[in-house]
Amino acid sequence: MSNTKYIFVTGGVSSSLGKGIIAASLAKLLQARGYRVTIQKLDPYINVDPGTLNPYEHGECYVTDDGAETDLDLGHYERFLNVPTSQANNVTTGRIYQSVIEKERRGEFLGKTVQVIPHITNEIKERIQILGNSGDYDIVITEIGGTVGDIESLPYIEAVRQLKWELGDDNALVIHLTLVPFLSAAGELKTKPTQHSVKTLMESGIRADILVCRTEHHLNQDLRKKLALFCNVQEEAVIQSIDASTIYDVPNMMLEEGLDDVTLKKLNLQGSPEPNLSQWNEFLTRHKNPKGHVKIGLIGKYVELQDSYKSILESFIHAGAENELKVDVEYIHSEHIDSNTIRNVVSHLDGILVAPGFGERGVEGKIDAVRYARENNLPFFGICLGMQMAVIEYSRNVLGLKNANSTEMDPETPHPVIDLMEEQKTITHKGGTMRLGSWDCELKEGSIVQQVYNLNKIEERHRHRYEYNDQYREQLETAGMAATGFNPETGLVEIIELPSHPWFVGVQYHPEYKSTVANPHPLFVAFVKAAYEHSVQ
Ligand code: GLN
Repeated sequence: MSNTKYIFVTGGVSSSLGKGIIAASLAKLLQARGYRVTIQKLDPYINVDPGTLNPYEHGECYVTDDGAETDLDLGHYERFLNVPTSQANNVTTGRIYQSVIEKERRGEFLGKTVQVIPHITNEIKERIQILGNSGDYDIVITEIGGTVGDIESLPYIEAVRQLKWELGDDNALVIHLTLVPFLSAAGELKTKPTQHSVKTLMESGIRADILVCRTEHHLNQDLRKKLALFCNVQEEAVIQSIDASTIYDVPNMMLEEGLDDVTLKKLNLQGSPEPNLSQWNEFLTRHKNPKGHVKIGLIGKYVELQDSYKSILESFIHAGAENELKVDVEYIHSEHIDSNTIRNVVSHLDGILVAPGFGERGVEGKIDAVRYARENNLPFFGICLGMQMAVIEYSRNVLGLKNANSTEMDPETPHPVIDLMEEQKTITHKGGTMRLGSWDCELKEGSIVQQVYNLNKIEERHRHRYEYNDQYREQLETAGMAATGFNPETGLVEIIELPSHPWFVGVQYHPEYKSTVANPHPLFVAFVKAAYEHSVQ
């Protein structure tokens, strides 16, 4: 058995309290003390992965290097820790059951009745320990999705109870994230919901070791004492997590509250140095003291729900800090624009980003936005579907290919400038069948992107089915739209740009998945810079 320590994060009272941010912040503090840390998310829903979920349901689908379609919390983990995650970092009930059922079909249970306990719980325990047993980590933080008391969370809670018992108190602990609401009529913070959720956890045999209390107001000493006494935790293990103006403040707030100290004490990991957060704090200083600002239009169709574009928004924060600029992102619903209204909607902006997406809804508005950016020298950044829209716009309006389109939107188009690869045409399953994960890309000498990355070869993450159709490449290049990034194995065009425009770049991949606090993505950094230059012209 490895010496890895395990931390479980459960949630009570309400969803959306920010377990992912608390887990990532604690991980950051432990990493800043020299520990090798990773974070895992267990999601109690039945989908095998979130890849088939509409962004309105569950926010953005985050993609890892190994091509796993995962929960957006993994994006926070990577952005905070600057360490890549993988399929092993996100497990759903669907995946657990799929694996147990496959084992049953192979006869691996030797005639036994297959049951939630022990078979499902054993599978969960195995999935938790895979990361620890890899030898790559000193500490594994496992976040249990959902709220304690949910029917679907029960097998996870039971798996945690068993593991905690097996590993012993020095090697495993439970942090319970809860809400301490403020009742304005009474003028008071209320501890009762927390008491009840701790009790619910106890009914499943788990005692919370640490309470992290989300609150809008400071918890005074009396309240902390009361929570400690009624919830069976030490006073120093009552941690306040007050609303923050940015998620990037949370590690420092947890440091001030001593979350890392009490965690290490309970895991018997004493004597480690104080966390070194100098790089993190330099980023925060730049983020909070911008010397100017830029206004970027984010053109998409899921703009009602900010979580749909989580990684893009965070990438702008990293790139803004790098440029010492505040990036104001204005959401523009692509269904609400057309060729008549576009000028009014985007002319005050310093740059536009056309977002990724699926399906026909809102694409014509995106094409109008690309045209405006191209014709008015407005910095343009197209990501995935956004890049495809740029190719369609150029084909229609510069090459004069009437009704040019992607076969995703119009299977009968006379000019399928964006089309499926032959291998994709026979696939009928939706889950996990896109071009996914990290692919190599070679950059053309002298291109914008080669200068931006300052590299000849990059690796970026993909999540799409349709591709730039090479049959139109000669025409497009001759007319001025350069193809400047290629996958070396397949020859697929991954990047287009317009050398005649101040900054017009479209990428088939998703750079936003790789931007972190420590490594802001160079394309976002360059785009924000170009937008700033445009604004001061
Ligand atoms: N719908 C497009 C495709 O499947 C683009 C996908 C995306 O933007 N992620 O190719």
